Amino acid sequence: MNIHDCISRLTTSGNIFLESDDPRNGQIGKWLYGCDVCTGCCPHNAKKWPGGNEFPGLDEVAEYLNPRTILRMNYGQIAQILMPRYFYLHEKDLWKWKVNALNVLANGWQAEYADDVRAVLSDVDARVRAKAGWVLNSKI
Ligand code: SF4
Repeated sequence: MNIHDCISRLTTSGNIFLESDDPRNGQIGKWLYGCDVCTGCCPHNAKKWPGGNEFPGLDEVAEYLNPRTILRMNYGQIAQILMPRYFYLHEKDLWKWKVNALNVLANGWQAEYADDVRAVLSDVDARVRAKAGWVLNSKI
């Protein structure tokens, strides 16, 4: 693996902000948080989980794991609902959820997403505002 291109690292590190011209924005595709495809390929791990068990608590957060929903959530909601379960992103890194959501929408762009993106043009975090401006400028 290349740690600099690893989607898990790129989407779960609060120290990384990809500039608009970085090709990795597109390479991330529709991954919102993490990736871990390699764990399914690794011979030490592949086919070890037989399935059948629900992921504990998934029902409680599933409706929020939607990029359009995340753009409409405030940071208090993200801290309360997503952060306890997806703990790689700490309280100071919650802007990353919105940047990741914007990237997912950009990589599967549909015109109906435009208002969701506009909703964060006035976000308190400059990185979110920059990403939203880039998405709108490149897609509309
Ligand atoms: S499969 Fe995903 S998590 Fe694994 S190294 Fe590649 S990008 Fe990273």
